[in-house]
Amino acid sequence: MSSAVIGRFAPSPTGPLHAGSLVAALASWLDVRARGGVWLVRIEDVDFTRNQPGADRHILQQLADCGLHPDRPPVWQSQRTAHYAAALEALAQAGQAYPCACSRAEVLAVLAQQGRLPGRGHEPVYPGTCRNGLGGRSPRAWRLRLPDDGGAPLQWADRRLGVQAQVLSTEVGDFVLKRADGAWAYQLAVVVDDAAQGVTDVVRGADLAASTARQIALQRLLGLATPSYLHTPLVCDARGEKLSKHLGAQAIDGGAASVQAALAALDIVLPLQPLPELLAQAVQAWQARWVRAAPDGPAPRPA
Ligand code: GLU
Repeated sequence: MSSAVIGRFAPSPTGPLHAGSLVAALASWLDVRARGGVWLVRIEDVDFTRNQPGADRHILQQLADCGLHPDRPPVWQSQRTAHYAAALEALAQAGQAYPCACSRAEVLAVLAQQGRLPGRGHEPVYPGTCRNGLGGRSPRAWRLRLPDDGGAPLQWADRRLGVQAQVLSTEVGDFVLKRADGAWAYQLAVVVDDAAQGVTDVVRGADLAASTARQIALQRLLGLATPSYLHTPLVCDARGEKLSKHLGAQAIDGGAASVQAALAALDIVLPLQPLPELLAQAVQAWQARWVRAAPDGPAPRPA
């Protein structure tokens, strides 16, 4: 069995890389380079309502401009839908996925009746309306039937954040695997592809830490290995909001200054210098922080 480290950067092509997404890209690249592994890029273009034409090529060029070159040709999720269909089919056959007829408005109406409307910034927890049948309504989406967790949290250890826990049944509910508009859900596609590509180490932005328990639950149901996870700090704008494409975050220019700023967000402060030297020093700093000091677990953070 090979023990090679395989990491990946998995951008959604909804716009160019900005300072926040570069941090995730760089961290995943550093983690692989610091451990002699293989770095992959996967374009997560399953959400056809949000894709921006040409953003995929633009992102690949921006990565190259920052000296981040994938070790294998990039993969586009839109080419891999047969694999998501097979995974959904396997879950459905095992009774672990079911069709759902509810619109978002209907879900919210049921939750309102139950006094369980989500707070600001939270997603509704599906009330299970279609768990035991559609009641004669037409199927729209597919949902995972969460195994009964009896209210027990699903726990996992993040290399930076430490032990994390989420009670999927009460905090998330039966989540969508295939949407009403036919798009494959991120949670299913990411799990199928991380496994298919043999990804051992996921390094990505901290906003996705909240998705990790869902992904681990899916891995277990599909009989797939769980990679290790490290969620990087988010980059915020002057108002304290997470940088995001839809809030109009600026595209990075590429080059050493962009990389230097992304390194600073990872607590790696280095003088501006030509890109190859900057990246080489950054690999050493990452190794000291996250690899050499941590043979069996998260490295102690410097005070
Ligand atoms: N495609 C996701 C995004 O751009 C990232 C997925 C992941 O790294 O798991 O936010």
